[in-house]
Amino acid sequence: LRMVAATATGEESVSDEELRPAALASFIGQPRLKAQLQLFLDAARKRDVPPDHILLAGPPGLGKTTLAMIVANELGVPIRVTSGPAIQHAGDLASVLSSLETGEVLFIDEIHRLPRAAEELLYIAMEDFRVDVMVGKGPGATSIPLTLPRFTVIGATTREGMLPSPLRARFGFTAHLDYYPHGELEKLVERSAVVLGLALSEGASEQLALRSRGTPRIANRLLRRVRDWAIVHDLDVVSAGDVQEALALYQIDAEGLDRLDIAVLNAIVRSFNGGPVGLNTLAAMVGEESETVETVCEPYLVREGFLMRTPKGRVATRKAWEHLGLQPGDDVTA
Ligand code: ADP
Repeated sequence: LRMVAATATGEESVSDEELRPAALASFIGQPRLKAQLQLFLDAARKRDVPPDHILLAGPPGLGKTTLAMIVANELGVPIRVTSGPAIQHAGDLASVLSSLETGEVLFIDEIHRLPRAAEELLYIAMEDFRVDVMVGKGPGATSIPLTLPRFTVIGATTREGMLPSPLRARFGFTAHLDYYPHGELEKLVERSAVVLGLALSEGASEQLALRSRGTPRIANRLLRRVRDWAIVHDLDVVSAGDVQEALALYQIDAEGLDRLDIAVLNAIVRSFNGGPVGLNTLAAMVGEESETVETVCEPYLVREGFLMRTPKGRVATRKAWEHLGLQPGDDVTA
């Protein structure tokens, strides 16, 4: 398991809760999105109707589930949580829909992974607030139309492009979450440290923020590992140096690159003199699946300017060479 992967681990699915802000005001960063959402919720409250359906799009670990829970909290309504992969048949979704209360929020994580038939059922329910429930099986089966109370769907997706347009069109408000700048992650780390009862000295939160790949979930995970370090070393206050030492133990460097990222850059630079290298060759050299390299490593390396994807293959940038302590053109074959 990678410390810097943005997907949740088993440990986190339980302990994420304690670090989740409950109100929009304590949700860190994303100022424009917060202002839009605030207006959207205020208007619904004033009109005294459940708000329109909301779609939250963006990479894992940036706060989609958290925002869904905040919306329900702010509206003072219950929230039902499910996910695309959890719904195997349209009937599973029909039974969830038919048990919703007025105003309830239905959160559907990974909504792009709903089965086709469920998707169709969902957009009719979202548009007309009705669902056809099938009773019986075979030739004798009949469908009974059921009117639903007004409710709000909040869909979350990491792959907005995979949503069919009829479904996408049913959302009245779409928010795109983006990676967090370092300053926002610092604030997030400081807030989480208070919740965890950990005292950070000047500079410690910055060191954590720099290594968190723009992702709140990673920031919180690294902070927990730093807390382990502080407990074992009986520290009252954690310094910037402690953060560096603790995370070096997990092989995470100053830019948030881990062992696999460094292996990828080393392979391109040292074995192919900076590239271009094809993805499959690269993956074989670092002993990983191509898909892991492509979906887990590369997006961050590309975003941070260490790597370029070209039609001929992957190319290391000047920044990558320098990160490895080299200059482009250095003789690396020796
Ligand atoms: P997603 O659903 O997008 O994968 P989550 O909402 O589960 O992400 O967030 C992952 C973790 O990061 C949670 O512990 C959450 O509390 C925290 N988190 C995410 N965004 C923020 C934020 N803007 N402010 C404070 N904590 C956040």
